[in-house]
Amino acid sequence: MTEPVAEDVRVAETTAHEGILRRQSARESAARTYARSLPIVPVRARGLTIEGADGRRYLDCLSGAGTLALGHNHPVVLEAIRRVLDSGAPLSVLDLATPVKDAFTTELFSTLPPGLADRARVQFCGPAGTDAVEAALKLVRLATGRTGMLAFTGAYHGMTAGSLAVSGGASDLRVARLPYPQDYRCPFGVGGPRGAELAARWTESLLDDPKSGVPLPAGMILEPVQGEGGVHPAPDDWLRRMRRITAERSIPLIADEVQTGVGRTGAFWGVGHSGVTPDVMVLSKAIGGSLPLAVVVYRDDLDVWRPGAHAGTFRGNQLAMAAGTATLAHVRENGLAARAADLGARMMSQLHCLAAEFPCIGDVRGRGLMIGVELVDPEGRDTGARFEADVDADTAADAGLPIPVGADGGTGVAGSTGRVRDPRPADPALAAAVQRECLHRGLIVELGGRHDSVVRLLPPLTISDEQAAAVVDRLADAVRAAWRQRETGELGRGGAGARPGAR
Ligand code: PMP
Repeated sequence: MTEPVAEDVRVAETTAHEGILRRQSARESAARTYARSLPIVPVRARGLTIEGADGRRYLDCLSGAGTLALGHNHPVVLEAIRRVLDSGAPLSVLDLATPVKDAFTTELFSTLPPGLADRARVQFCGPAGTDAVEAALKLVRLATGRTGMLAFTGAYHGMTAGSLAVSGGASDLRVARLPYPQDYRCPFGVGGPRGAELAARWTESLLDDPKSGVPLPAGMILEPVQGEGGVHPAPDDWLRRMRRITAERSIPLIADEVQTGVGRTGAFWGVGHSGVTPDVMVLSKAIGGSLPLAVVVYRDDLDVWRPGAHAGTFRGNQLAMAAGTATLAHVRENGLAARAADLGARMMSQLHCLAAEFPCIGDVRGRGLMIGVELVDPEGRDTGARFEADVDADTAADAGLPIPVGADGGTGVAGSTGRVRDPRPADPALAAAVQRECLHRGLIVELGGRHDSVVRLLPPLTISDEQAAAVVDRLADAVRAAWRQRETGELGRGGAGARPGAR
């Protein structure tokens, strides 16, 4: 028998890969998301790298939507899983006590913000982030005897009914929607500290005005950095203000750290940057070390549940707890949050340089290794013109306002926060083209944001300097290629919202 030549192997691999994709699109729900924009068939993975059934290799900056703090198949995670498998321990135990769960809880509690760590209760809920959000909403409603919730524009908390209600979409549950501060498309047209101040004042006035139509709510839920909403870090002062506002009115503050947790933003928990201690924390994704696990952690005085008040079959995933313990410990012991802060700042400064070169990059923002690059139509007009457009640069700086467009000599670059100028219309078609071009260059990126026009980078915290440089290079190349297509007319102009959201 003759050995198949390399070319034959490649053809066979490509055929298998195409067959799997064809069958997927014929058999799976129309609700599938990532599979549409990322037509790959992963068969092996390690760290940042995924290998497809077609033999191609990719740098994975989607990381299971931010789940893989240590990348794919990290040795400490595999070792922890193998240890449980080899021990003969039961794999599914409802909410019974086990040594594996005991170790997970001890490790988790050791990472919690001061003020919560020593008075924490944990509820192991269903395994998805949205399950933990539902549990948290239910808990604060019962604890306060109130029903309504405060949530923020652009929020994303999951896909079950309660989570959807507090997310940015329409809902018939009673949720008062508050403005989340954002610089580039500031709803007040000013951005910066002033925009955050106005957002906070709106929240306060809504709560204190007896005719605002918003009764005292059961809780406020927020993300320390909005992820799916387009990578908007909450300013630290604003977050402290939200803590003060809620504490003064006895409103439990729920931090949704599903995506921001476990070092992702440069602090172990996203709230760590501001020093805020929430009353309730909703945790999932990275805490399961790549396997499904979600919990709600809250202060003991909120523990008003009766036995069985919130139950579920899959609360005892031992493999996920072991993988999660290994992940939490590895991030803590190796200072990976600080590493994410340093490397993320470096990557963002390189991306700011790219933005100076390409007018189609409207904004670069993020915190740690949670980075967003917003693609815009530089020639389009946006309705979000800034109020202070005729204020000069010095006046704006004195007032803590962003530097007006053109007032800085026309570069549009305003200090370390990057470019501040009139926002341009979001360009989801261009963002989708950038994502496609990234994939051609062996780089997997996520799209997000209100209009799906934000290219998102969520690499593992273990990414090396060389890999980070390769990611930025490939992204730069992809932006160049997509922009060329736009300039030569190859790429149609897609209106905002042209692409269904993928979460
Ligand atoms: N909250 C946040 C902040 C999230 O980013 C997500 C998922 N992207 C969720 C909740 C929901 O998690 P899951 O998809 O596991 O239900």
